[in-house]
Amino acid sequence: MIEVNNLTKRYGTHVAVDNISFSVREGEIIGFLGPNGAGKSTTMNILTGYLSSTDGYVKVNGHDVLTDSNAAKASIGYLPEIPPLYPDMTVREYLNFMYDLKKCKLPKAAHIAEICRIVKLEGVFGRLIKNLSKGYRQRVGIAQALIGNPPVLILDEPTVGLDPMQIIEIRTLIKSLGKYHTVILSSHILPEVEAVCDRLIIINGGKIVADATPEELTRQYSGSHHLTARIAGPEEMVTDLIEKIRGVKKVTCLGSKENGSFDYLIDQAENADVRAELFNRLATRKWPLLALKTADRTLEDIFTSLINPNLDAKGGKRA
Ligand code: ADP
Ligand code: MG
Repeated sequence: MIEVNNLTKRYGTHVAVDNISFSVREGEIIGFLGPNGAGKSTTMNILTGYLSSTDGYVKVNGHDVLTDSNAAKASIGYLPEIPPLYPDMTVREYLNFMYDLKKCKLPKAAHIAEICRIVKLEGVFGRLIKNLSKGYRQRVGIAQALIGNPPVLILDEPTVGLDPMQIIEIRTLIKSLGKYHTVILSSHILPEVEAVCDRLIIINGGKIVADATPEELTRQYSGSHHLTARIAGPEEMVTDLIEKIRGVKKVTCLGSKENGSFDYLIDQAENADVRAELFNRLATRKWPLLALKTADRTLEDIFTSLINPNLDAKGGKRA
C-alpha cells in the first residue's frame, strides 16, 4: 500500500531524513516513533506530497507521489502536526469547505454526516471551531482527513497536547479507523502507539533504527541475558558461588527484600543458561533458591536505548 525507497531529505546541509526505506501493507496500523527532530514530520510531509524529497521515491497505492501526485494524494487522508483548521468556521462549514477543496465526488451531505458519526462530532456540528476543546478540534482534523474515504490515513502526532482522557478517546478512534484504513501515526511517546499499532518503525536522527512488531522488539532485545534470583544465605559467599559458575559474567547484589535472603542480578554470557547449575550448587550448600526469573526489559527500556546514542540496543553503555 505504501512503499518508501531510499528516501532522503536535506535542508541545506542538514540531513533530516537519511536514506530510509520501509513498506506498509494494506490494513496495517503503523506507529512511526521517534524523539523530537527525528524526521517524522518531514517523512510524513513527503509521503503526502507536501514536500519533495532530495532523493528516493514514495509510492502510495501504486502511484508515485511525485510523478502521479493527484492519484497518490487522492489515496491519502492527512492530519498534519498542526491541523489546518479555520477557527471562525463552524464544524459544518469547515467540513463542507474541505469537501469542495478536495473535489470529493461522494454524496456530500450523506458523506459528511457519516464521517461525523464515525468521529463522534454530531453534537458540535454547528459550533465554531475556536470554541471546541483540543480533543474535539483533533476530531475535526481527523474528520477532514476522512473526506473522500481515502484508503490510507497519515496522522502526525494526533494525541499531542491532549489530556489523558482525550488521548484514550482518540486512540480508540484510531484503532477503529484501522479496520477500514491503512494507518500511519507518528508519536514521540511509546505508549501512544504501542497500544494501537501492529508494527513500530522507530526513527532517530533521520535513520530507521528498528522496524518490527512490539513482540518482536521485546524478544529481539530483551533476551534472557539477565536473571534475578532471591537466595537465602550469606551475601558474600553466595555472590562468590554465583561468580564461579561458568557462563556468569557478573553478579550484583540488589539488597535484601525478604528477611534472611538477598536478591541478585545475574548477567549471563551470550547463549549461556546458568539456571540449572545455579540451582544445583546452591542445593549442595543448603542455601535455598527462593525465586528465580529472567529480568526482561520492557519495550520502554528498549525504545529508550534505541534512540539514545550513548547506549547500545541491549542496554549497555557504548564504549
Ligand atoms: P520530527 O517530526 O520527528 O520532530 P522533523 O521532521 O520536524 O522531526 O524535523 C527533522 C529535522 O529537520 C530536525 O532537525 C528539524 O530541525 C529539521 N527541519 C525540519 N523542517 C525544517 C526546515 N523547513 N528547514 C530546516 N530544517 C528543518
Ligand atoms: Mg514532527
